[in-house]
Amino acid sequence: MATDNDTSGPDPDIKDAVEGYQRFRLQYERDRAFFKGLATRQQKPRLLWIGCSDSRVVPAQITNADPGELFEIRNIANCVPPSDANDDSVGAAVEYALAHLGIDDIVVCGHTGCGGIKALLEPIPPDREAHLGRWVDYTRPAHRLMDAARVPDDIRFVETVKAHVQFQLDNLMTYEIVRQGVVSGKVNVHGWLYDMEHGEILAYDPVDGVWRGLVEMHGS
Ligand SMILES: [Zn+2]
Repeated sequence: MATDNDTSGPDPDIKDAVEGYQRFRLQYERDRAFFKGLATRQQKPRLLWIGCSDSRVVPAQITNADPGELFEIRNIANCVPPSDANDDSVGAAVEYALAHLGIDDIVVCGHTGCGGIKALLEPIPPDREAHLGRWVDYTRPAHRLMDAARVPDDIRFVETVKAHVQFQLDNLMTYEIVRQGVVSGKVNVHGWLYDMEHGEILAYDPVDGVWRGLVEMHGS
């Protein structure tokens, strides 16, 4: 990492971003009409995507979405704090998506290997990582459920991730705008899980309470 006294050249991480930007500029020139269109038209995304900050799980990549198609909330462990938790970051984006962008599908997508889900399994120093400690407390209901259900170790982690997604769907319903949308049939909420080992998405089927392949669930 480069420091203030470093005279050996640019920080390689920033250099990488600058080189990527230069490649993007070429792409921008090639697709100028598309990007100009994005700038001049109001955004009209298809989905509100609530996913993890994890750099390996890229929503636009796993849904093959173009710019303008996904309205994203990303945070550690794809959490939706309940509406009375006073976290306006998630609530504001949810309200904006539904009230101003006309979005009628909300996806909460967890993933295998999620560090945010693992975080509660180890001590978090409250003096240095107070925010992190408070945030990952939103994953506690899923961990508690695994304890109560005595889920076997070999499937415990993935089951925790799934349960956590289901709890976030419940939390979404604590937002009045979501609840009204769902009750009136105008808004649908979807619980997904991205399996990083296989590059596959599973979807929660609330009708029979099981997870199945996304294509199987929604057709192709
Ligand atoms: Zn994660």
